[in-house]
Amino acid sequence: MLKLRWGSATDVGRVRQVNEDSLFCSDVLFAVADGMGGHAAGELASGLAVQAMAEFGESGPLDVDGLAAAIEHANQVIVQTGRQQPAYFGLGTTLTGVAVLGVAGAEHWAVFNVGDSRVYRYAEDRLSQLSVDHSAVQELIDAGVLDEDGARHHPQRNVVTRSLGTSPAPQADIDVYQPVLGERLLICSDGLTNELLDAEIAQVLQVETEPEQSAAELVRRANQSGGRDNTTVVVIELTGLD
Ligand code: MN
Repeated sequence: MLKLRWGSATDVGRVRQVNEDSLFCSDVLFAVADGMGGHAAGELASGLAVQAMAEFGESGPLDVDGLAAAIEHANQVIVQTGRQQPAYFGLGTTLTGVAVLGVAGAEHWAVFNVGDSRVYRYAEDRLSQLSVDHSAVQELIDAGVLDEDGARHHPQRNVVTRSLGTSPAPQADIDVYQPVLGERLLICSDGLTNELLDAEIAQVLQVETEPEQSAAELVRRANQSGGRDNTTVVVIELTGLD
């Protein structure tokens, strides 16, 4: 069994009126969703996504296929809600997180992503991004016409190329990683990464403190840097491997 401790923080920021991010944390499942769409649709969509994942997390031991099915189910719930309520037309959300699941008899991390929220790993004094954004600027980076710094200021930086709430269902990225004792995983919405450089995120994660405090400090810094979007952060620490 992986021994974990975790903490989370979410904040509306300094510009927006509503927090359209949602999060969920349990022993085996951690998720962040960043909703989009007018008329409270974003809030609704992100809430529905994490709720659907939470129900899946309670249904028993997880595997990769089950995780993919759960994300597809979450998509279906959002699509149906959009069809039933014309006011919510266009609702959608990112969905990003980490599940603990068994692979070949041992527990592993499964990192999942649809959209531009992110998962990072901080281990051995190094921060690495585990998820790949589904965004217009990521496509430009992949094509070699934009660098990370240019991406942060690009007018299309908020355009996601995959999200939940679409038909046919989006392809979710799911990657399995071996746990490393003492490492910290970070799940965050783009409100954090649009305000803080990776080096600044690493600076916070390297301080050995309660995950709850690290999460609060990351959100505080995002707001200090402008807080132009909602910011949501989950920090998970692997404290033991039995
Ligand atoms: Mn956002």
